[in-house]
Amino acid sequence: MKIGFIGLGLMGRPMAANLRKAGFALLVSDVRPEAAKELLEAGCRWSDDPAGESDILFTSLPGPKEVEAVSVQILASAKPGAAWFDLSTNSPVVVRRLHARCASKGVQLLDAPVSGGPGGAQSGRLALWVGGDRPTYERCLPVLKAIGDEPFYVGAIGAGTVAKLVHNASSFMVQAALAETFTLGVKAGVEPLALFKALRQGATGRARTFDRLAEKFLPGSYDPAGFALRLAHKDVTLALELAQACRVPMRAGEHALAELSEAIARGWGERDCRVAMELQAERAGVSVRVPREQLKEII
Ligand code: NAD
Repeated sequence: MKIGFIGLGLMGRPMAANLRKAGFALLVSDVRPEAAKELLEAGCRWSDDPAGESDILFTSLPGPKEVEAVSVQILASAKPGAAWFDLSTNSPVVVRRLHARCASKGVQLLDAPVSGGPGGAQSGRLALWVGGDRPTYERCLPVLKAIGDEPFYVGAIGAGTVAKLVHNASSFMVQAALAETFTLGVKAGVEPLALFKALRQGATGRARTFDRLAEKFLPGSYDPAGFALRLAHKDVTLALELAQACRVPMRAGEHALAELSEAIARGWGERDCRVAMELQAERAGVSVRVPREQLKEII
């Protein structure tokens, strides 16, 4: 079985190296030939057209534009029956469009964006969120496991990309919120190291970032309250008063308080504070529900 790898950047190079270490015959390519140097020394072979020779092809490219550009050659030369995993963080629209084009040539495109950074790509501690044909995913699992320890089939084509975009948007929204609250704490006079230690000790600090979704929001149960909405509203109000006194702008904080205020106005003050998340579900026109029993299987 031959494996092709196009895109040998910060992520692609270590992922390709791990495939080689696992013993797979690997054809590599990049617009920057020098990016392949170490891989060629490790026994990979250079190819100007890896798609033409590969049973399984990987791409790890900057974004939609580069994937579309590379797809022209892939569509022209890939073998019918071949599988193409796009490891790039791409657009679901582009992924689905290319999937349809590939299908007409007998090639299965699966989206498989990764999470774990260059360190994870090197150590293999890497999540791969896969969307597309399930039998192809299962057939290629041994190869995917050489890249990352946590391949996960998310759903139909594009589902992996949606999961990745939701993950990264969450990360950067949390990052913006932490920048706000942390600068507030430091400007209000607490030593950064002490503040960091204190934050890690709190309820949110001890949880994995997304695990708290499973407590109330996913099962959709807000009564009785674990922490009442009226108390959360009081705490954020106090924090914003402190911010005003310290002249620290709190854009995310003001947004959070507006959500809590609207939920209070609904008469939900005695319910669990996370009931405010239902306002967004309402605006988005979607119901988000996972039965507790199913959550127990994951957590
Ligand atoms: P990178 O810019 O380091 O690597 C991209 C590689 O693609 C480069 O080597 C570049 O020369 C090559 N390339 C560009 N256009 C090409 C073309 N037309 N044909 C062949 N090769 C081409 O980027 P990266 O950090 O390795 O990220 C790759 C993908 O993984 C991106 O979609 C990124 O969003 C995603 N990602 C990155 C990280 C991270 O921490 N760096 C983490 C998870 C996911």
